[in-house]
Amino acid sequence: MAKRDYYEVLGVSRGASQDEIEAAYGQLAKKHHPDVNPNDPTAQNKLKEINEAYEILSDPQKRAAYDRFGHAATGAGGAGAPPGDFDFGPFGSSFGGGIGDIFDMFFGAGGRETGRRGPSRGADLQYDLHITLEEAASGIEKDIEVNGWETCRTCGGSGAKPGTHPVTCKTCGGTGQVQSVQDTLLGRIMTSRTCEYCRGTGQVIQNPCDDCRGRGRVRRKRTVTVKIPAGVDTGLRLRLSGEGEPGERGGPRGDLYVNIGVKPHDVFQRKNDDLHCNAAIGFVQAALGDEIDVPTLDGKANLRIPEGTQPGTVFRLRGKGITHLRGSGRGDLHVHVTVTVPTRLTEKEKDILMQFAREQSENRSSGKGFFGKMKDAFGM
Ligand SMILES: [Zn+2]
Ligand SMILES: [Zn+2]
Repeated sequence: MAKRDYYEVLGVSRGASQDEIEAAYGQLAKKHHPDVNPNDPTAQNKLKEINEAYEILSDPQKRAAYDRFGHAATGAGGAGAPPGDFDFGPFGSSFGGGIGDIFDMFFGAGGRETGRRGPSRGADLQYDLHITLEEAASGIEKDIEVNGWETCRTCGGSGAKPGTHPVTCKTCGGTGQVQSVQDTLLGRIMTSRTCEYCRGTGQVIQNPCDDCRGRGRVRRKRTVTVKIPAGVDTGLRLRLSGEGEPGERGGPRGDLYVNIGVKPHDVFQRKNDDLHCNAAIGFVQAALGDEIDVPTLDGKANLRIPEGTQPGTVFRLRGKGITHLRGSGRGDLHVHVTVTVPTRLTEKEKDILMQFAREQSENRSSGKGFFGKMKDAFGM
């Protein structure tokens, strides 16, 4: 199957701003979430497609590569790739490894660098955050503990024992590259490769730091405050730019992705930004009408049950649902009424109901009752 154009997937123009892409993604992710479409087996795939498109288009570098090379740049195969000005040549579509691999080729360490390896951007981190429906509805600030590599405080990231310094690598003379010369029939061929001794850094640590053993980094928990906007739903991903792992040799931090999961609620079921709940009333209340308390996310609300309410009637309380993530206002609360019939009656209650039944059948036979009126109306 040909892959769809990422801009088409998100429904934005090729010149869309980052904000427009964010907005389009937020809406689509909500719309196509499998929890919202439990009966649609394609929802999962749609969401995957949307996430993939967002992954690329939300990252300026990946987006630029995609603009130039199409799907070939994402390693997703050339089937649906628009013809570009770049012949992918020997790479072909044999890169099955997904997005990461091929982007490393373009931007990662060693891809097009020639000399010593410079600072590289830190890794992205993922965090699955489960929140309650109430928290999703009102928005909340949460402190989460993220576990990842952090710069070693003892050596400040140099990897060298305090008081000592890394020294220039003798093998490569500090260039990080080793050259070798071969004489062939065609002449001298010079090749260079990354120095194995210093792993391309050009420096060697003679006295490694005790705390990080020369790595310059240690695994450490870090507290990050996440601002969760009102209206989020399961499947939504928040990106906290610069909250990932620090880069090597002072490189910038990666990003932290927080995957939102909203826990099921005992009382309310969520559909998009609307909430649904059940309310049981007695058959007398249904027949005569009443006022009842119904639960809402903001506490109890008063609901008027009109005379002659039927089982399964749905009452809508406007604005008592979830805050819209984008735009203003809130969804509605739908109260589904069930009517309970008593299972055990006292003799007196039975008498009253028998009396009621007699009264009804008299009304019917005299033509005043419901069926009588029907007969009149339809001339039966
Ligand atoms: Zn250290
Ligand atoms: Zn070296």
